[in-house]
Amino acid sequence: MEDKTKIMLVYTGGTIGMVKDYATGALKAFNFKKLIKNIPELSQLDCSIDSVSFDTPIDSSNMNIVHWVSIANIIEEHYEAYDGFVVLHGSDTMSYTSSALSYMLENLAKPVIFTGSQLPIGDLRTDAKENLITSIQIAALQKNNKPVIREVCLYFEYKLYRANRTTKINAEHFEAFGSLNYPALAESGVHLKVNNDYLWVGNRNKKFIVHKQMDNNVAILKLFPGLNRSVLQSILKIPGLKALVLETYGAGNAPTEAWLLSDLKDAIADGLHIVNVSQCAGGSVIMGQYETSEHLQKLQLINGKDITTEAAITKLMYLLGSNVSAKLFKTIFETSLRGEMQ
Ligand code: ASP
Repeated sequence: MEDKTKIMLVYTGGTIGMVKDYATGALKAFNFKKLIKNIPELSQLDCSIDSVSFDTPIDSSNMNIVHWVSIANIIEEHYEAYDGFVVLHGSDTMSYTSSALSYMLENLAKPVIFTGSQLPIGDLRTDAKENLITSIQIAALQKNNKPVIREVCLYFEYKLYRANRTTKINAEHFEAFGSLNYPALAESGVHLKVNNDYLWVGNRNKKFIVHKQMDNNVAILKLFPGLNRSVLQSILKIPGLKALVLETYGAGNAPTEAWLLSDLKDAIADGLHIVNVSQCAGGSVIMGQYETSEHLQKLQLINGKDITTEAAITKLMYLLGSNVSAKLFKTIFETSLRGEMQ
């Protein structure tokens, strides 16, 4: 008899496993192990499932680097024994965590699928069951005894995405995530259709490495018309700040005011890494396309191309944590490491 595919379910928290506090009406995290016993559908799946839960499941708004490392540790510890991993996570910061994990898990050769839901699993109209069951099926997909998916993904509302390409775009609809710059890797309809051409093909023979140093001396500044110079200066002068995601307009454009350019120039001269990322969810930074981005190019801002803010800020933490030299930083950031940019 063939061995069944082995899937590890990692429960971190989020709406999927929450219950209503009837006194206050607020949703709070609940013991998932108890809940999972109440999903009889799981026993119909053709794989064996074990689960591990955070000691204290959290709303994903409370996620931080320590939690990311905990998820990475669980995957590292069980990497050899399991064929795939499904991480249950709140949707609010799922794109950040899954982007971070995509960098932390280098040469991943097994699926790590993040999912969650907009309604708790016990709710009559829940989206949790479909998200959970299909995520497990995707994590269990094999071809010639090898996993079909070999990257960190996010599954939500019938679509599987490359995690580091996603953004949470809706707090109301079941379709909560978008991946505007990269097509879905798989779609679940009557059949589960995998778009093989878009899957990540890493170097299959390289050793799996887990990176656990993430440096959070980083910040995000979103430009807006009327930005005050003292706001910019106070951010650029944050003690210990090493890198900044500058969310610019459209295709990477910013005001041409002299004070803005000179402040950015001084900060770069002082060693701050500044990445130009578009505020638009779709499309790419094209520095030099407009006069309003030409000067940013001259200042040697790092080109974020079509990266999401979530993937950019976590990439900065990862590269800073890996002690990438100042000389190589720009070139390495502008290189796609896990399919996060064009
Ligand atoms: N606030 C919740 C969380 O992110 C929302 C969700 O799970 O979808 O943990």
